[in-house]
Amino acid sequence: MGPTSPDRRLDGNAAAGPLSELFAVDLTTATATCGHCGGTAALAAHDVYADAPALVVRCRGCTEVVLRFAADARTLRVDLSGARLLVVPHPGAPAPAPPDPASSDVTRGT
Ligand SMILES: [Zn+2]
Repeated sequence: MGPTSPDRRLDGNAAAGPLSELFAVDLTTATATCGHCGGTAALAAHDVYADAPALVVRCRGCTEVVLRFAADARTLRVDLSGARLLVVPHPGAPAPAPPDPASSDVTRGT
C-alpha cells in the first residue's frame, strides 16, 4: 500500500479539524523556518510589509518571502510556500515553567 493508496486517502475536509487548531492560536508565538535559507526565527522576529496587496512576511536572514496573507470580504488566503516549517505551541499545552531561582546566577550568594 503506497502513500497515495485509496485506502489511506481522505477527503480534504479531514484536514479542517486539525487545521482549525492551527489557525485558532496566537501566531505571534509561532516560529517559522525559512524555505530559502533554512533560518528559524519567531514570527515576531521577521520583517512585515503590510502596504502590499497582501501582508508579506520576509526573512531577516535572506530577505526572501516566508509567508503571505490576504483577506477580502469572501476569502482569507495564506501562502506558506516560502516557509519550510511553521511551529505553533499547542493551545492545550501548559504554560512554560518559570525559571528556577536556584539555578540563576543572579540569586546566588554575594
Ligand atoms: Zn531566509
